[in-house]
Amino acid sequence: MDITTTTGATIPTPSLATSSRRRLVLLPYPLQGHINPMLQLASILHSKGFSITILHTRFNAPDPTNHPHFNFMPIPGVAEENLPVSGTDNLIRLMRYLNDEGLGPIRGCLEKLLSEDAGVASLITDAQWFAVQTIADGLELPRIVNWTTSVSAFLSFSAVPILRQMGYFRRLSDDMKSEALVTGLEPLKVRDVSRFLTSDPEGAGELMELLVQGMKPAQAIIWNTFKELEELQLPNLTRGFPNRHFMIGPFHKYFPALSSSLLTQDKTCMSWLDKQEPNSVLYVSFGSLAGVEESEFLEIAWGLANSKQSFLWVVRPRSVKGSEWLEALPNGFLERIVKERGYIVKWAPQLEVLAHRSIGGFWTHNGWNSTLESICEGVPMICSPSFADQLPIARNVSDVWKIGVELKNGFERAEIESAIKTLMVDKKGLEMRDRIMNLKEKVNLCLKKGGSSYSSLEDLASYILSS
Ligand code: UDP
Repeated sequence: MDITTTTGATIPTPSLATSSRRRLVLLPYPLQGHINPMLQLASILHSKGFSITILHTRFNAPDPTNHPHFNFMPIPGVAEENLPVSGTDNLIRLMRYLNDEGLGPIRGCLEKLLSEDAGVASLITDAQWFAVQTIADGLELPRIVNWTTSVSAFLSFSAVPILRQMGYFRRLSDDMKSEALVTGLEPLKVRDVSRFLTSDPEGAGELMELLVQGMKPAQAIIWNTFKELEELQLPNLTRGFPNRHFMIGPFHKYFPALSSSLLTQDKTCMSWLDKQEPNSVLYVSFGSLAGVEESEFLEIAWGLANSKQSFLWVVRPRSVKGSEWLEALPNGFLERIVKERGYIVKWAPQLEVLAHRSIGGFWTHNGWNSTLESICEGVPMICSPSFADQLPIARNVSDVWKIGVELKNGFERAEIESAIKTLMVDKKGLEMRDRIMNLKEKVNLCLKKGGSSYSSLEDLASYILSS
């Protein structure tokens, strides 16, 4: 008998328990947007009858009390303390550090696990742990990659080396403004790909190549997406990467009550939302990493004020350069604008917020989790991507799926005001809502028995048991 979750997603029951190799070791990448999908995936696979060991750094460690059915194993001697993650340069440094210094300790942990338990079937790692493939090969342990963002973002990553050979990204400041389309990946623009790169474009490009190449020898790739959403991109994917692909997402729909939040969610905003009219509130959040300059923060505040719409705004502490939290807000903003029609929190229960009937739009940085979560709740978006996969995702949201408004000029109060009005009150916004509601329906179908993600999950479980 299948399990049906509270959202109506159906999970096929554990397949025939004939194999003795039923333990999976999962290695999440230690950032919020990567931890969430990996722990969601762990729960999905656990519900299929697999035992789960989570191998993790102490830095940004998941909270074991949220997942009592899993074993947790900290990796000793690497990323034991907090590391800087603000800005692309730091993120690139982190990836390099983990894939270098992390390898020895990870090998040690895996050897220990394999010596204690002969039933380990596979190692599932985040794609950003690309160097771990050599360890898996050495231990003859099948490695499966969990790709935590979209197919189109992956294809943009994979295009970086070719684009560099074609002469792009030598003059980053020009490329960051270029409206030219990327051949073969239209409607992606050069400006969307250029912000993958950093003050060290050469080094970042190299790393991007390693990440993509690291997918090729993996046995299989698990995608937190669903086939119907990215169908147009699939021929490009399978041509370049003939691995086994399992699209079983959206992961968070299987067990929506699960939390792997690293920060405390301020739930007081829910009772404020309860008092608002249906579809009247704009939810504003730029995820766990993106930061803004003080001048941009002011433009955001003025854009919100001038739009005259209600808003719930997540401002993470220290996400405004030079400020602890809200000090840079214009005089009177808290007393007049927020008191009248706004609410500000440091971190929100985002899934609950997006599902609330009062939410009419989501102003987002287009991290993949946030974008998928918005699609699943039928909430149209305003797109403010800042780096990496966020740009190609935003391009899809605004130009392919047409479920969001692009802010073309960064943070500029007049454009923000106009985008908010378009999304929340104009006919165009209503049309976007219709289109995203249609996608929401597709999500519900793909997770039901016979749906694409449902079937792919069944295939994945059988594949792991048979490999
Ligand atoms: N999130 C949250 N509360 C917030 C903002 C974000 O719980 O106030 C969660 C959100 O639901 C998502 C994750 O944090 O699952 C952010 O991941 P995403 O890929 O959107 O962006 P990233 O943080 O990696 O840039």
